[in-house]
Amino acid sequence: MAAWLRGLLWLLALLALLALRGAAGAPPSFVVLLADDLGFGDLGCYGHPSSDTPNLDRMAAQGLRFTNFYSSSPVCSPSRAALLTGRFQMRSGVYPGVFYPGSRGGLPLSEVTIAEVLKAQGYATAIVGKWHLGLGVNGSFLPIHQGFDHFLGVPYSHDQGPCQNLTCFPPDTKCFGTCDQGSVPVPLLWNQTIVQQPVSFPELVPLYNKFSQDFIADCARRGLPFLLYYASHHTHYPQFASQPFVGRSRRGPFGDALLEFDASVGHLLQTLQDNGIANSTLVFFTSDNGPSTMRMARGGSAGLLRCGKGTTYDGGMREPAVAYWPGHVAPGVTHELGSTLDILPTLAALAGATLPKVALDGYDLSPVLFGSGQSPRRTMFFYPPSPSALQGSFAVRLGRHKAHYFTQGSFHSDTTPDQACHGLTPLTPHVPPLLFDLDSDPAENYDLLQSAAGPEVLQVLQEIKQQKVLFEQHLQFGESQMRKGRDPALEPCCVPSCTPKPACCRCS
Ligand code: MG
Repeated sequence: MAAWLRGLLWLLALLALLALRGAAGAPPSFVVLLADDLGFGDLGCYGHPSSDTPNLDRMAAQGLRFTNFYSSSPVCSPSRAALLTGRFQMRSGVYPGVFYPGSRGGLPLSEVTIAEVLKAQGYATAIVGKWHLGLGVNGSFLPIHQGFDHFLGVPYSHDQGPCQNLTCFPPDTKCFGTCDQGSVPVPLLWNQTIVQQPVSFPELVPLYNKFSQDFIADCARRGLPFLLYYASHHTHYPQFASQPFVGRSRRGPFGDALLEFDASVGHLLQTLQDNGIANSTLVFFTSDNGPSTMRMARGGSAGLLRCGKGTTYDGGMREPAVAYWPGHVAPGVTHELGSTLDILPTLAALAGATLPKVALDGYDLSPVLFGSGQSPRRTMFFYPPSPSALQGSFAVRLGRHKAHYFTQGSFHSDTTPDQACHGLTPLTPHVPPLLFDLDSDPAENYDLLQSAAGPEVLQVLQEIKQQKVLFEQHLQFGESQMRKGRDPALEPCCVPSCTPKPACCRCS
C-alpha cells in the first residue's frame, strides 16, 4: 500500500475515534438508567397502550431501541452484579436468590466493577437509588468500596422492611401491602451514613433528582468525565410516587410510579443539556429483570413474552433497552442481541479503558451502536435464581432460536393465565429440549421439535448444544455469598444502642 494511502487511512481511523470520544477528544460521560422489575411490555415505545412514558419514548425515538436485549438473571441482586462486573453472577457468587438487610455476604470486593474501571481512567462516579449488592460488617460491601465516589440511596429493595403508611401520598391514605415485617425500617444512606430511617418514599425521588443534577453540574464545571448509575426503585413493589405524580397516570399506582421514573429521565436529559454536555454523554436505559406479575395490576407487564420475574422464559429476562447519544448513535430499532453483561465492555471501550484481567461474559456493543450494526453477541445463557453447576444453563439462545433444557415456575410470575409460569410448577427437565424460534414465535408457544423436526431444526439443536457445552466448560462458580446466611445484628440501624431491634431504629 502506498505510504500516502496508509497515512490517509490512519487519519480517517483517528478522526472516527475522536468523533466517538467527543468533539474535543475527551472521553464521553455515561448515564446508566436501570428500572426495577419493569417488563418488556411496560413502555409506550414497546407497545403498552396506557403507560405514560414521554421521555423514555423520546429517547427511544431519537436513540437506538433494542428488541432482543437480556438481563443476566430473572431477579435483582444477581442481575445487578452482572451489570456492574460484565460477568455472570455465578462467577461472583451472587446466588441463589437476592441479598437481605442482614445478609453476611455481598458482591466480593475482589470483583472489578464498571465504576472501578472508569475511576482508573479519571472518571467521577456516583450511584443513586437501589444498590442490593450487600452491606456487610460496617458497610464493607457498600458502593463506595466498589468504585463509586458517591452514593445516595437504599442498600437493598424497598420492600425489605415494613412499608405500611410509608409509600402513600397523602400520608393518611390507605397503603397497599405491608412488605417485610420483622426487619429494620428501610434506611436512606448517604455513602455509609444513615440519613433517614424509615425513608419517606413520597419525598425520595426529588432527592435523587437533586443529587443527580448536582453531581452532573459539578462534573461539567470541573471538566470531568463521569459515570452516573441511576438505579431507580420504580417500578418494583410496593408502588409509590411523589405528590405531583399520584393519580396522574392512566395506569393506576404502577403507572404513577412509572410516570415519576420517566420524569426523572426527562430531568436528567435536561440537566445534560443545561450543562452543555448532552453531545458528550451516552445515556443507556434498561431494566434488571422481568415483571412481578404476582402483584397483578400493581406489577409490570412482559407484553407478548412468556411469564415474568423469576423464570428463564423470555418474560423473565428480555428487557426494554435504549442507547441514546444524539449525533453519535443513529436513531432506529435493532433486533441484534445484547445484554446487561455487555455494558462494562462497551463503556470501557468508549472510555479507552483496559478491561479487567478476569473471565468476562460481555461483548463490546460498539458495532451495534456506531458501526456495522451487527452484534458480536451470538448467544445468551439463561440461569434461574438458584443456578447450579450440575444443571447448567436452563436455556440457551443462539441467533433466533432458544432451547430450554429445564423450566420452572416462580411465585413472582403467579396470576398469569399460563400455568407454566406459576410458583407451584416444579422444576422440569426437557429431553430433548423445548426449541422455539423467537423471531416467529416470541411468546415461546410452539415447540419446533413437536411441529417441524426436520434436518435444519436438528442441526440448530446440535449447534446450541455445542455452545452450551463450550460455555459451561469454562464457567467457574464462585463461593455463594447468599449461603453465608444472615445476622440480624448486621441490619442497618440509625440508633447504634437500639435494643431490641428493629423497632427503635428510627431517626428523622
Ligand atoms: Mg428487580
